[in-house]
Amino acid sequence: MASSTADLGLVQQRIAAWRADRLSIALVPTMGALHRGHCSLIELAAQCSDRVVVSVFINPTQFGKGEDLARYPKDHDGDLRKALGAGADIVWFAQSDQIYPGDFATAIVPSGPAKGLESDHRPQFFGGIATVVARLFGLLRPDRAVFGEKDFQQLRMIEQLKADLAFEVDIIAAPLVRDPDGIASSSRNAYLSKAGRSKAVAVPAALNDACAAFAAGERDATVLQRIGLQRLLEAGLRPDYFALRYAADLQPVNGGLCDDPGRYRFLVAATCDGVRIIDNCRPDAPPWD
Ligand code: AMP
Repeated sequence: MASSTADLGLVQQRIAAWRADRLSIALVPTMGALHRGHCSLIELAAQCSDRVVVSVFINPTQFGKGEDLARYPKDHDGDLRKALGAGADIVWFAQSDQIYPGDFATAIVPSGPAKGLESDHRPQFFGGIATVVARLFGLLRPDRAVFGEKDFQQLRMIEQLKADLAFEVDIIAAPLVRDPDGIASSSRNAYLSKAGRSKAVAVPAALNDACAAFAAGERDATVLQRIGLQRLLEAGLRPDYFALRYAADLQPVNGGLCDDPGRYRFLVAATCDGVRIIDNCRPDAPPWD
C-alpha cells in the first residue's frame, strides 16, 4: 500500500480503515524539508499512537510579502525517507487546491497567546497557521496532533484554537531539538552560510546567558531580557525581541519573578545575515546544559 501520496481521498480512506480497526491516529503537520526536529515529532507520534500521518504543505497564507515562500526549501524524496524512517505510516504531500479549494472563504483570526512577539513582526503568520491547522483537523480528524516547542508561541496558539473551536484532538507538545552547535534545528538553517551559522550561535548563547543570570539569582525580567539582547547585538544580529513571558499564556511578566522556572519562558527572534531565527527555553533549561 502507498506510503506517500498527494491524493487526499486515499489518505482519508486509510484513516477511515484504521479508525474502523479502532487504531488511534496521530497527525504531524509540517512544511517539509524535514530535519531531526521534525523526526523527533514523528517518533513521539508513533510512540503515543497506532498510526502516524505526516502532512507536508508549504502554507502560503502564513507567509508575508517579501518572505521566503518562493524559495522555501523542498525535498520530496528526503522527506519521504526521513518520515518513514521515523515511524510515519503515510506521508501526504498536500496540494494547494485540497487545502484551499477555489471557493475557500474562511480566515481564522487568533488572539490571546497569538498576540505580540511573532505577530508584531509577522502579522499574517498565526492567522495563516490557525486556518491551515483547522483545515487539516477537519479533513483528517486525527486523535492527536504533535507540534514542536521550537515554535512555542505557535504551540500555545494551537492549544487555544483547539479549546476555542472545540476540536476533538489531543495536542501533544514535543521538546525542541537542537543541532550539535546549539542552534535550534530548522528548515531555514539551510539558508545560513558557514560564517552566518557561527554568528547565529549567538541566539542560543543569548538564551544561555539569560539562564545563567536566572541561575545566579537574577529575578528582574527587564534585566534578564537586557542580558539576552546584549549578546545578540554584540554578535551583530538584528533582534526582533528577547522576551521573558509566562509560559502558560505568553503574557508579559509583571514585577519580579518567583523561583519556579516552570512558570516562565525566554523567547527570542533575531535575524542573522538575512535569516530569521527563533528559539526559546525555560529559564532552568539552557541550550548548553
Ligand atoms: P515546520 O515544518 O517548520 O512548519 O514545522 C513543523 C513542526 O515541526 C512544528 O510543530 C514545529 O514546531 C516542529 N519543529 C520544527 N523544528 C523543530 C525543532 N527544532 N524541534 C522540535 N520541533 C520542531
